[in-house]
Amino acid sequence: MSSTAVEPLTAALAAATAAANAAKDSAPTPTAAPEATPTAADAAPSDAAPRRVALVTGGSGGIGRAICVALAAQGCDVAIAYTRQSEKAAATAASCRTVAAAAGFYNTRFIGISGDVANRKDCELIFAATTEQLGAPDILVNNAGITRDNLVLRMSVEDFDAVLDVNLRAAFILSRLAARQMIRRRFGRIINIASVVGLTGNAGQANYAASKAGLIGLTRSLARELGSRQVTVNAVAPGFIQTRMTAELDDKRHEELLGSLSIKRVGHAEDVAAAVAFLAGAQASYITGQVLAVDGGMTMQ
Ligand code: NAD
Repeated sequence: MSSTAVEPLTAALAAATAAANAAKDSAPTPTAAPEATPTAADAAPSDAAPRRVALVTGGSGGIGRAICVALAAQGCDVAIAYTRQSEKAAATAASCRTVAAAAGFYNTRFIGISGDVANRKDCELIFAATTEQLGAPDILVNNAGITRDNLVLRMSVEDFDAVLDVNLRAAFILSRLAARQMIRRRFGRIINIASVVGLTGNAGQANYAASKAGLIGLTRSLARELGSRQVTVNAVAPGFIQTRMTAELDDKRHEELLGSLSIKRVGHAEDVAAAVAFLAGAQASYITGQVLAVDGGMTMQ
């Protein structure tokens, strides 16, 4: 059973959290969200650009957290979507607050929203809770991802479906929800976190590679549909990034991967986040339908 709920990451959000939690057993019903009162401290850097709302899935994970923090540093309000790890989502929110304050954005908001993106209803509730509490997302980062590795002959259909549901189907559902609002406002940034494996394939990862290749196809198709409305859609394809997902690789595989790189170091979540922040920002308004590999040269042609 899925369990969508909004985690109260700050006391100020408790009222809105209760409203969103009430939506668990019924269709999402918009409720009044706590309004942020502009303060003098909110001026300075944020004056230069409109305040943006970002929804980041998998915001409790390694790359997702770095993305949330990078967007917070640009002055975005961020909805941090996650499954069960509320402490990690709270840690992401705390890091966001710190970097936002350091950059002079004192009144930005960071909320945690739990839900299983493999479940369509949860996707809808995550989107509704974001919209109720922060406003409709201007920036959507489809980052949640899982692996269920095995050779094809041993891979179950269930493991194939599970990976496709989280890595690809959820991105379609959330992008569709976000695109409706973005088209109306004539602004939007959808950024899908793919993988170099979606470009090259990988033995033992047919499900994962198919999901990431599918995400690239989704990216390019959406980019063609939405470009005329000033909505850009891009993919970032990380290579070998040091996170929980890659921590299980043995030493031999680790050495092999390093050998395939031009830049001889493992990538960091912040390397990926910097690319996402760029694509989300004003300077990337003429870039759409692209796949930006952040991979130390692993897949360069
Ligand atoms: P991670 O395991 O640290 O984070 C994954 C995140 O996805 C977590 O926050 C988790 O809660 C969330 N998630 C998983 N299943 C979910 C579900 N059903 N519903 C909602 N959220 C769910 O992994 P990471 O390395 O930070 O990966 C982030 C993204 O980057 C993934 O899409 C992954 O495929 C991609 N990626 C990672 C690497 C790498 O080397 N780490 C390389 C290429 C691509």
